[in-house]
Amino acid sequence: MQTPVSLYFHVPFCKSRCPYCDFYSTTHLALREDYTRALVRAVERCPAPPGTPVPTVYFGGGTPYLLGDGLLRVLEAVRARFAVPEDCEITLEANPGDLEEGPLRRLREGGFDRLSLGLQAGDREGLGLLGRRHTPEQSAQGVALARRAGFRNLSIDLMLATPGQTVEKAVALAEYGAALAPEHISAYLLKIEPGTPFAQEGMEARCPGPDQAADIYLAVRQRLLELGYRHYEISNFAKPGYESRHNTVYWRLGEYLGFGPSAASSYRGRRFRLPGDLAAFLAAEDPWQTALDEGPSGGLTEYVMLSLRLAEGLDLGRLPEYGGSPEEILLRAAPLEKAGLLTLREGKLSLTGQGFLLSNAVITALLE
Ligand code: SF4
Repeated sequence: MQTPVSLYFHVPFCKSRCPYCDFYSTTHLALREDYTRALVRAVERCPAPPGTPVPTVYFGGGTPYLLGDGLLRVLEAVRARFAVPEDCEITLEANPGDLEEGPLRRLREGGFDRLSLGLQAGDREGLGLLGRRHTPEQSAQGVALARRAGFRNLSIDLMLATPGQTVEKAVALAEYGAALAPEHISAYLLKIEPGTPFAQEGMEARCPGPDQAADIYLAVRQRLLELGYRHYEISNFAKPGYESRHNTVYWRLGEYLGFGPSAASSYRGRRFRLPGDLAAFLAAEDPWQTALDEGPSGGLTEYVMLSLRLAEGLDLGRLPEYGGSPEEILLRAAPLEKAGLLTLREGKLSLTGQGFLLSNAVITALLE
């Protein structure tokens, strides 16, 4: 049987740019038709042989919902090229203010079964501060529309440690999100990325400092656990059985191909990326010829870094597959376990709530 490969489609269009965002995207919506054609071409020319099984497909962005029926054409091309099973998880990211019932129904009927909504904040003030175009009412309507269109698997994104956010406000945001009853919640700590309007405006000074951000993270984690969500990855919470299968492929070092400018792939032992250049992607007869090699995949560092993101943790028994020694890692883990950052259970090392906060330092200590 051929090794399965997951597919990621980057759709770099947004109606407006949010001031904290450093993702590759443009507001030139007129290019969407050309872009759909370029994605279809990239599927037809992709390096995976025809008939390769595809367990998950993810359309991220940008705002992929803006591609409209073009999404269905790309999915058709995927079905023509790959073996797509009935239970393939097919996710689409969308902004709640853009949703309409007719198009949503067509997408659901066309095979999309998971919708990820970028809510980020729960009140007008918070949404305004983040430069989001939607209102809290549209968030609630968006969830209701998605349910009516037949989506049984909904995810929402919430943003933590935003300017002026206190622990109480963050917990209220988590409760607001959970009250919408999504199956999955991603809760990210805002990071001020260099070059963004937020960085230029000195917004960092208005954000909670590291200690307060840590309190926010732990309080939100605790509240979501109480509300029935399982904390399965640093920033991700899910009702049992609704963990993101697509993202788990990344964290479990599975193979995936990324389509579109700046999209990353890990395939046949190599990591590579298509250039972050929309015009070049649109013009390329075969975009894979332009891929930038980023070296081998599947090394020890990668295994430790990615598996520790998951609550399930790092399987000591698998370390030799990646050239690591369980004994050495256990020796380095002992003081971290004592400090309450790691736990060892049934041959698996995992981060505690505190450990998730200091994951970079823990990983460095384990690998040095
Ligand atoms: S946060 Fe999302 S909607 Fe806002 S600019 Fe970035 S990709 Fe576009």
